[in-house]
Amino acid sequence: MEFSIDDKTQTILGMIREFMQKEVYPLEPYFLGKKFSDMKGKLEEARQKVKRMELWAPQLPRELGGVGIGFMGYAICCEEIGRSPIGPYIFGSQAPDAGNIEILAKYATAEQRRLYLEPLVRGEIRSCFSMTEPEFAGSNPTEMAATAVKDGDDYVINGHKWYSSAADGARFAVVMAITNPEASPYLRASMIIVPTDSPGFQLLRNISVMGHAGDDYASHGEIMYHNVRVPQTNLLGTEGQGFVIAQERLGPGRIHHCMRYIGIAQRSFEMMCAYAAKREVGGGKTLSTKQIVQAWIAECRAEIHASRLMVLHAAWKIDTQGAYAAREEISLIKFYVANMMLRVIDHAIQVHGGLGVSDDTILSFFARSERGARIYDGADEVHKVVVAKRILKQYM
Ligand SMILES: Cc1cc2nc3c(=O)[nH]c(=O)nc-3n(C[C@H](O)[C@H](O)[C@H](O)COP(=O)(O)OP(=O)(O)OC[C@H]3O[C@@H](n4cnc5c(N)ncnc54)[C@H](O)[C@@H]3O)c2cc1C
Repeated sequence: MEFSIDDKTQTILGMIREFMQKEVYPLEPYFLGKKFSDMKGKLEEARQKVKRMELWAPQLPRELGGVGIGFMGYAICCEEIGRSPIGPYIFGSQAPDAGNIEILAKYATAEQRRLYLEPLVRGEIRSCFSMTEPEFAGSNPTEMAATAVKDGDDYVINGHKWYSSAADGARFAVVMAITNPEASPYLRASMIIVPTDSPGFQLLRNISVMGHAGDDYASHGEIMYHNVRVPQTNLLGTEGQGFVIAQERLGPGRIHHCMRYIGIAQRSFEMMCAYAAKREVGGGKTLSTKQIVQAWIAECRAEIHASRLMVLHAAWKIDTQGAYAAREEISLIKFYVANMMLRVIDHAIQVHGGLGVSDDTILSFFARSERGARIYDGADEVHKVVVAKRILKQYM
């Protein structure tokens, strides 16, 4: 059992921490008060600084243009970067591009690498992932309706998707569509790269989520694909391989999300402690003298620590035994850590009182924007059912 962080990761972590403090947190008031597209200039400047410091894309190996600290190293750095909602974008590790990069790196042809993967890694273009459909349960995507039918050298795609995060301004979408309707449910769909300037690609709207539709990268698109024609060479992997590739994308992606959740929880926790220590509530006594607040602090501290250990253990298992072997651990962390984060944010808001629900701190943004964590990448209930079934098998 080894809990120490190696020297290289420690050095990079220190550089990231300093950069977050000097360059990233000061940009947050713009992010909270403006449209995303209005602050792209400032974000681009920060991205260039990250590149000059050779901290760009810490999730990727050096040969792909990343920092090269391995999966475990990145898991650790991801917590630090995830403390700010703009951190992942500034460091080039934002979802859904990071997931798309991962699958493109594994499955893209030479031409797909040149056209899509390489500019995506460099942060010159963005992408989205288009699987969920409003008419069907996203929890069971085998029932999707979108189709991709061969016609000459092309696929003709028809479908209605929503929650394609960051579709606004994306150069291309990775679309899941049925190509083999006669095959068994998990072999019916394929992933196809669709440039967003293809005729028939229509971004209907950015969905308003918790009162905010957002724009550009900070948005979730609803999209119609009306007879969208793309060459068959835009297929990713082989026909019918869509769910296999999706599964590969989700395992490591859940580690990234969960470490980001821990970053958010840790930051909210620090804010809660700092506020409790200074807020006087009568007789010169601060909130920190109240046992109920002390209990929240101890409980949150324990839950964050437990979550971190769980996620690092799951990351270690993926790293050493592969995502399939770690599927139970991955399900456990996905629902446990998402709920932990929301509980910590909620306690932090409660300690801040009216200030907590105002938009004067980042806490209200966290509460709004992170509620979806219990729904995407597998709703809590789905992960719980998966884990429980596996456990119960041993007793039946
Ligand atoms: C912020 C956010 C970002 C997203 N980004 C993307 C993206 O980039 N690309 C993309 O394709 N999709 C994306 N999604 C969509 C997401 O993947 C789906 O919302 C998710 O899969 C759930 O599907 P659904 O919304 O259709 O809910 P449903 O599948 O209809 O489920 C509704 C609820 O039913 C319960 N439930 C479902 N199945 C079971 C079960 N077996 N047992 C017990 N209870 C169950 C759960 O509580 C669930 O929340 C995003 C969603 C959100 C909220």
